[in-house]
Amino acid sequence: MSRQFLAMLVIGLISAASPLLTASASQDPSRNKPFILCSTTQLADFTRQIVGDRCRVVSLLGAGADPHTYMPTPNDARLALEADLCIQNGLNLEGKNWMGTLAKDAGKPVVTATDGLEPLVLDEGGMKVRDPHAWFTPRNAAIYVNNIVRAVSQLDPEEKSEYEARAQLYLQQLRVLDAWIRAQFNAIPPDRRILVTSHDAFNYFANEYGFKNHAPVGWSTGSELGAGMTPERRKMVIDSIRNLNVKAVFVETSVNPKLVREIAREAGVKIGGRLYSDSMGPEGSAGETYIGMMRENVLTILHGLK
Ligand SMILES: [Zn+2]
Repeated sequence: MSRQFLAMLVIGLISAASPLLTASASQDPSRNKPFILCSTTQLADFTRQIVGDRCRVVSLLGAGADPHTYMPTPNDARLALEADLCIQNGLNLEGKNWMGTLAKDAGKPVVTATDGLEPLVLDEGGMKVRDPHAWFTPRNAAIYVNNIVRAVSQLDPEEKSEYEARAQLYLQQLRVLDAWIRAQFNAIPPDRRILVTSHDAFNYFANEYGFKNHAPVGWSTGSELGAGMTPERRKMVIDSIRNLNVKAVFVETSVNPKLVREIAREAGVKIGGRLYSDSMGPEGSAGETYIGMMRENVLTILHGLK
């Protein structure tokens, strides 16, 4: 390519791009909108369902990210400084309280979406731990939505009725989702409702829909009390797979699949697929929303176990 042609190409690109750049810098409507910063992808989806385009919503965790072990970046701290409201899951999902700390350091209000929810208490190797994975039932998701709609209505009272209208529609969708899940699982006989996953994230889901669940890694993939993998847990999971004649085990999108693959090989059982657990799928994927991730999980479990 000649130097002259290259120069023309560059000039052409700049002149084509510059009107767009100018427009987005000076007239970007999102600049004046309330800015809501969420720790997880599920929280960001609930918030978007409620605020529509009225607010700018950002999730600090991306698709496939692990909230237990996440380390905030300098860019996250900058976003917290820009935010009008921060939303966290709470119940120690955000390992070492990283979201609470970001909000506090930036001097921003932080809302805990699980407030008022009755958490499951797990016995993790003699340790009593409140299970943070509460979004896994649509009933609990409704509690998240109610907490979020209250918080955004306080932040932006002028649009309160609109936020509430959207929340009402979404709450109806969550009730439909719950009924649909129950109907789907009718196809799995009760003695086959055994869910083996990487980490202990599916207790709420299992309790709600009549499953027993087993995981080699405790309630967190991090280093908190009662978290992580122990050889006893690992052995218990393999014994359960053999004794209960489990048809399939599942890997999780936010956890390295290596351990579950090893266990599947040792126990002589197939991998039933990948479940969305602590984060949803990337934009454009079937699991990019909460309802999408729940729907895909149910169909994957159904396919693996029925
Ligand atoms: Zn988790």
